[in-house]
Amino acid sequence: MIIILKPDVTEEQIQHVVARVEELGLRAHLSRGTYRTIVGVIGDEQKVQADPLRAIPGVLEVVPVLPPYKLASREAHPQSSIIDVAGVKIGGGNLAMIAGPCAVEEPERMLRIAQMVKAAGANLFRGGAYKPRTSPYAFQGQGEEGLRILRETGDAVGMPVVTEVMDPRQIDAVDRWADMIQIGARNMQNFSLLTEVGRTRKPVLLKRGMSATITDLLMSAEYILSQGNSQVVLCERGIKGWDPATRNLYDVAAVPLVKGLSHLPIIVDPSHATGRPDLIPACALAGVAAGADGVHIEVHDCPEKAKSDGPQALLPAQYAELAAQIRKLAELFGKRISPLPEKAGS
Ligand code: PEP
Ligand code: MN
Repeated sequence: MIIILKPDVTEEQIQHVVARVEELGLRAHLSRGTYRTIVGVIGDEQKVQADPLRAIPGVLEVVPVLPPYKLASREAHPQSSIIDVAGVKIGGGNLAMIAGPCAVEEPERMLRIAQMVKAAGANLFRGGAYKPRTSPYAFQGQGEEGLRILRETGDAVGMPVVTEVMDPRQIDAVDRWADMIQIGARNMQNFSLLTEVGRTRKPVLLKRGMSATITDLLMSAEYILSQGNSQVVLCERGIKGWDPATRNLYDVAAVPLVKGLSHLPIIVDPSHATGRPDLIPACALAGVAAGADGVHIEVHDCPEKAKSDGPQALLPAQYAELAAQIRKLAELFGKRISPLPEKAGS
């Protein structure tokens, strides 16, 4: 950490800064230049808060040298992590192909969609049982019954399942029924939820909040990791833009950016990022080309009857065409769509 002092800092203030640093158990290295005096702080800066130091009279700025996310950083863990979701690997050249309807629907439809996305090459089946809806009058999901339907569908076709948790009170049930717990964009900074999910040992799909910076996203991952759950996969799903032409602004640069900063896998969700089926294939391929460890896409066999997010759903045939292109692109980069575990069903 480097403390930059103000041009008019007094000798008394300099000595006060040095004394505070030493009080915190760190060493201060004073460097007096012609225009500025700076204090190099030597020791474990992650044990020290920068803000109290910023409040000391005579301090212009405090510049941390290390990233604030210790466990999530690539510096701490140079090798890319591979997350195992009930036998499906994500990261290290293995792509996740997460597909399914936005919400869990009736069992027959779920089975139909699951069979179709599995045949296309998907390796994880998704569906929300607890839905975060803007309106309290909109379909809220089927709750625990939805979790049961999702599990039965996954078991019937031999695909691990992913579903969202919105509240710490839902964690036990989601942990029991699902193979991967999704934290949605709206809850990325629900710190008590992150802490509780961190106490489970289930893989977590952490979606980027719609106004979250990359640092915010990695700090949220840190909440989960710091509780002992190291199974975190990040997801770029678009950030709030100003143009209603697309649902969100797809930040494809986030993929290589996060890959440089963190060892955690990152996947893309072009469904929520664009909200438009005509844009999803190109954006999915762009994500894979940018280095994403997987693609998360909403698929429905009859979008006009979907309980949520119908307008952005791909039809199964469209998904199959896209999945074939993703497979080719993955090969070009020496990657592969992670195969399903052996014990697969029908
Ligand atoms: C979803 O996956 O259906 C969802 C609600 O996503 P997000 O949290 O990214 O909006
Ligand atoms: Mn959705």
